[in-house]
Amino acid sequence: MKKANWLELSQFFSNKKIRASFSMKRSINSEIFNVLDFAKLSGFKHDLIAIPNQTHSINVKNTTIGGEILNSDGVFSSNHMVVCSIKVADCLPIFFAHKTELFFGIVHAGWRGLVNGIILESIKLIKSRKIALNQVDVFIGPSIQACCFEVGGDIIDRFNPKFIKQNMNSKYFVNLQGIAKNKLEIEGILKKHIKVSEDCTYCQFERYFSFRREGDKSARMFGLIGVKQK
Ligand SMILES: [Zn+2]
Repeated sequence: MKKANWLELSQFFSNKKIRASFSMKRSINSEIFNVLDFAKLSGFKHDLIAIPNQTHSINVKNTTIGGEILNSDGVFSSNHMVVCSIKVADCLPIFFAHKTELFFGIVHAGWRGLVNGIILESIKLIKSRKIALNQVDVFIGPSIQACCFEVGGDIIDRFNPKFIKQNMNSKYFVNLQGIAKNKLEIEGILKKHIKVSEDCTYCQFERYFSFRREGDKSARMFGLIGVKQK
């Protein structure tokens, strides 16, 4: 069987109108060069792809249009014509979708975004759209995990101690997915509605790009979420 070039994530959302996908390293080796190409490959025929410019900020926006979304690291929509996108390589791609209503979004959360409050900003946006938090499914996609996310002593006190482990060489490792999940639960997303990928982008070099492993030249994976078209 031919190996898939990307991950189909729709099964993580109970809203059957929602489709979500995540690109892999193999996608880039074939015909994928940008998010628009990946949208087509993974079955989105939409013209409106919303693309946050991503500056490790905590800004998230609601949109009814496609194209570049300035000054933002996350984008949400209630428009079935729009596909929300982000790009990542180690940072957390956090997907959101209402269980029945037309509302979805995706957020790029690195450690800075997480400690500075991008989850809270996302929750504020969701509430401002009159969406019930206990009806929202969340999926945290492939990202760097505690096995590989070593953090220096200079910034370690910015993380919740509950999610820090020290190894035998006194190095610190941080569980970013645990931090994100914890913040989502504190803000009102139900524990049973949050699913987390166990894939580590740093360990799984055949599947994913990793900024930590590959440095500035690292390519990115794309995360997409939108509504299935008939
Ligand atoms: Zn790892």
